[in-house]
Amino acid sequence: MSSPLATQPLSQAADLDGFWMPFTANRQFKARPRMLQSAEGLFYTDVQGREILDGTAGLWCCNAGHGRREIAEAVSRQISQMDFAPTFQMGHPLPFELAERLAEIAPAGLNRAFFTNSGSESVDTALKIALAYHRARGEGSRRLLIGRELGYHGVGFGGISVGGIANNRRAYTTLPNVDHLPHTLDLQRNAFTRGLPAHGAEQAEHLERLVTLHGAENIAAVIVEPMSGSAGVILPPVGYLQRLREITRRHGILLIFDEVITGFGRVGAAFAAQRWGVTPDMMTIAKGLTNGAIPMGAVLLEETLQDALMHGPQNQIELFHGYTYSGHPVAAAAALATLDIYQRDGLLTRAAELEDYWQQALHGLAGLPNVIDIRSTGLVGAVHLASRDNAPGTRGYEVFESCFWDGLMVRCTGDIIALSPPLTIERQHVDRIIETLGRAIQRTS
Ligand code: PLP
Repeated sequence: MSSPLATQPLSQAADLDGFWMPFTANRQFKARPRMLQSAEGLFYTDVQGREILDGTAGLWCCNAGHGRREIAEAVSRQISQMDFAPTFQMGHPLPFELAERLAEIAPAGLNRAFFTNSGSESVDTALKIALAYHRARGEGSRRLLIGRELGYHGVGFGGISVGGIANNRRAYTTLPNVDHLPHTLDLQRNAFTRGLPAHGAEQAEHLERLVTLHGAENIAAVIVEPMSGSAGVILPPVGYLQRLREITRRHGILLIFDEVITGFGRVGAAFAAQRWGVTPDMMTIAKGLTNGAIPMGAVLLEETLQDALMHGPQNQIELFHGYTYSGHPVAAAAALATLDIYQRDGLLTRAAELEDYWQQALHGLAGLPNVIDIRSTGLVGAVHLASRDNAPGTRGYEVFESCFWDGLMVRCTGDIIALSPPLTIERQHVDRIIETLGRAIQRTS
């Protein structure tokens, strides 16, 4: 039976009042809803039966495309066999198995997993582990957490505090003991670079200044996205991540990569850490972990971090942290089935194979009106549009909307159009994305 919304005229927005939509201009959306109904492969179908090419893997999460039967079957089997089991002082095999499977594809040494339900929870968990780790080693003065301008680390109080997107912080209170590195977006020097930008590695040196300012003995961790996704696909300048690694190591500061977007093949390797040859002490993951099918996240970390807390009486809880649904059996089953697909279909490296074609195609939009930068790596990309005077974000939104009604889902972050299609995409779909987006940009004054 189809839902009542499937037959509802788009103008009946009054019926949509109940759901307060996240990160959405609710009144604008409800005046002309974009309502999806089903999904298969690379396409959504909306409630009117229109096909929409998914240019964003849902919300950066459906890396293996939609409707993967193996995941649905694993979920269905698991929910029938055991719907829920606690992981506080109890166990069941699946999260143990999943932790091992993740260690096999993670950067060498990151062989411990703490499970969560989302990227935001993974970030808050990683920050808490960093603080607990230093304290357990007798370095409890290390309380300062360092993020980066324009960073997005979800919406928990930890995440918005180390995050650097003003709108996500303004209305709230944030943690004390937080500082930020400068961002690395530099249109003047790097616009239209193909691959990683040549300029900006020196921004990592700012960390030395923060060490001088606060004292290394007071700094617990630095958290960055290896590639900022939500702020509009900001790539790390050549050598930047290496510099961060050197400086953090020299001062005993933990380095956390937030790989919620970059994980699971998005940039051409299982994780950005591997693609760009820098291994952090901890990694936060979510989204692609279950192909978006069931909420799940995790922190992957070095065993030495866990070991530091494994002392004292055996009957003592080592880390006072966890979620009711940490290692949820159904989510773990979805994740295991997802990893099987990624590995069997070679999806963790597929973005590297398509990268040149993708980059070439995207850069074909370079001459269009208002395009001031194009950035890409792996199977992720952004078209950066000039903002209108006094109306930032409106041009990006219009392009996004125009794409949607023309059968393509993209993301807009202000005036940046971000793309991250499922890793199962073929060249003809890349062409279709570029054609549709090009038309939308041309149509938008
Ligand atoms: N960290 C990064 C880098 C993200 O991109 C996101 C979400 O987009 C998050 C954390 C938060 O994840 P979630 O929305 O699952 O809480």
